[in-house]
Amino acid sequence: LVNNLLGHCSETTAAAVDTSDPSCEKFEYQAEVSRLMDLIVHSLYSNKEVFLRELISNASDALDKLRFLGVTEPELLKEAVDFDIRIQTDKDNGIITITDTGIGMTRQELVDCLGTIAQSGTAKFLKALKDSKEAGVDSNLIGQFGVGFYSAFLVSDKVVVSSKSAKSDKQYVWEGEANASSYTIREETDPEKLIPRGTRLTLYLKRDDKAFAHPERIQNLVKNYSQFVSFPIYTWQEKG
Ligand code: ADP
Ligand code: MG
Repeated sequence: LVNNLLGHCSETTAAAVDTSDPSCEKFEYQAEVSRLMDLIVHSLYSNKEVFLRELISNASDALDKLRFLGVTEPELLKEAVDFDIRIQTDKDNGIITITDTGIGMTRQELVDCLGTIAQSGTAKFLKALKDSKEAGVDSNLIGQFGVGFYSAFLVSDKVVVSSKSAKSDKQYVWEGEANASSYTIREETDPEKLIPRGTRLTLYLKRDDKAFAHPERIQNLVKNYSQFVSFPIYTWQEKG
């Protein structure tokens, strides 16, 4: 992991870096992730709405993990908040926010989970990609294997993940952009953005994908997926 670290945010090469924030560090994606991101960002994959299913399933997994661990480690449940998933749409600005009150991620977990490939599905995807010599087969593989968290980049220019682990008192922010080889992590200090526990993803939609931020669109997609999710999913829209 030390190899992942490029240095502190005082470097001027990345646009997302905040030089005034000493907690901010820049990391380079593992080579496989870079390849995957490149493929996702440039693919002509037409079934882009799978991003929502992937992100809801991650939120649901995080809630499941906390519910399970909370049985033997009740101190993880010290914040008295409901187990749920909230999806907010801002159609005027093309922004979708997905918030869960699950287990959350520590700073190290943000690096391990969102900068490297741990999950088997994605590893299989890359293997299939390597094995396939045919041109044009790439985008079918996205649907076949699923690309998990990175599917957010099917529709987003920028993704911000702000997370507070149930095991930590601090909240950290992961920020990545499509077409970038690095991401940043910093501590969340804005009091208005602090959450009691869990993870908030903010998707800044690509120009051509802003229609996903229409509440009816999201509600229809959620209806399709929510039947498999055992936690309540609430949707609401930003008042313009
Ligand atoms: P998978 O869900 O198959 O493990 P993903 O790419 O979807 O793969 O997610 C990678 C990892 O990132 C997850 O295993 C989990 O550890 C972490 N993660 C993603 N989203 C969340 C979330 N909302 N809350 C907590 N952890 C998350
Ligand atoms: Mg997943």
